[in-house]
Amino acid sequence: MSPKPVIGLLGGGQLGRMLCQAAAPLDVEIAILDAENAPAKQINDNSRNINGSYKDAAKIKELASHCTVLSVETEHVDTTVLEEIATTTKVSVCPSWKTLRLIQDKYEQKAYLASKGIPVAESVAIEGGDAMHDSLKAVSAKFGYPWMLKARKDSYDGRGNLKISSEADLERAVAEFGKFSCYAEKFCPFQCELSVLVIRTEDDEGRTKQLLPYPAVETVHEDNICSRVYLPPRATPASVCERAQQVGSSVVEKLWGRGIFAVEMFVTQDNEILVNEIAPRPHNSGHLFIEAVPYMSQYKAQLTSILDETLPPKIEPYVASSIMINILGGANPDSHLPLVEKAKSMYGNKMSVYVHLYGKESKPSRKIGHITVTGVVASIAELEEFAKPLVDMASIVRE
Ligand code: ATP
Ligand code: MG
Ligand code: MG
Repeated sequence: MSPKPVIGLLGGGQLGRMLCQAAAPLDVEIAILDAENAPAKQINDNSRNINGSYKDAAKIKELASHCTVLSVETEHVDTTVLEEIATTTKVSVCPSWKTLRLIQDKYEQKAYLASKGIPVAESVAIEGGDAMHDSLKAVSAKFGYPWMLKARKDSYDGRGNLKISSEADLERAVAEFGKFSCYAEKFCPFQCELSVLVIRTEDDEGRTKQLLPYPAVETVHEDNICSRVYLPPRATPASVCERAQQVGSSVVEKLWGRGIFAVEMFVTQDNEILVNEIAPRPHNSGHLFIEAVPYMSQYKAQLTSILDETLPPKIEPYVASSIMINILGGANPDSHLPLVEKAKSMYGNKMSVYVHLYGKESKPSRKIGHITVTGVVASIAELEEFAKPLVDMASIVRE
């Protein structure tokens, strides 16, 4: 038997924390690079953990020197050093630095998908500096209002997106986005948003070995932040959900490396699917699979794929329905506590409520936890009725 693998993880937020929760029963060792007391470190006491930034090349190399595999909980990492590690050491980088580098730049990501025949919203690069205002005007003439201005890099939770609704927004856009490298995207008046998680493995030559999609889920965003996820989607025909799985798989097939990926999509008014963006790691839309697919949560999928262990032939939920509600920080540090207490007190007939808190300080709009509700036999409409008090309370916290 080969020696016990050690996974080095760049980033120790909530995704890393849930990865550690999946790793513990399997006795898989994880070494985390992030700030002291990061959410994942709180539950993963390991002498190989490193305090520092996952953007710091020297610290990434130090982490790699203790590990067999490196993986990530964020795409916003230094890919130059990951390329060096992958090409000069025996440590494997999962997913590939090539995938991380492509996904880091949302404009390059869209251009790559378009070049591979994947349907995406039309995008154009925006010139910065003095030419920006003219460039924005030209886009407005081309796309019409509204359209989306997006920072190419370092965005999450919509921080880096601005909806341009009229000429009056252009000055604000230059003031707020002038210093970033940006692109413009056509607005998509979608019916709903879906997300499909896909597990990808490959052989030593980089050829795809297995592509395993999860069932499509519906995601609801408010103020650009995901607030809820529904399995199955509430009003999307099964045929569209199946197509979303096919699109998700074909997107992930065009990437490089082993791991779990999420593909965010828009369903247009004509039931067409446009890919919004890819996450090369576990994703907020997949939290509910901890309970809905207990034999292969997205975190166990990350472990199993990067360690190249056996995956199941199919991903099949154990429950008829599930809803995930994000707990976002409110105006006060304890604004969310009544919601947490309510969730902890709810028991239903073959319907269950699970609370996950991340050990993060509460700040307005910060993701500090989530609640998953599952129904063994309940339809998504019945489960929605059961979960309504939680959805209502989560909205109050956000106000
Ligand atoms: P995250 O990485 O946290 O998912 P992000 O900051 O990368 O978010 P996007 O995924 O680009 O942001 O956008 C966030 C949300 O904004 C989308 O899920 C969608 O609700 C809305 N949105 C983004 N682009 C468009 C578009 N072209 N048309 C309509 N709505 C959009
Ligand atoms: Mg994003
Ligand atoms: Mg997104």
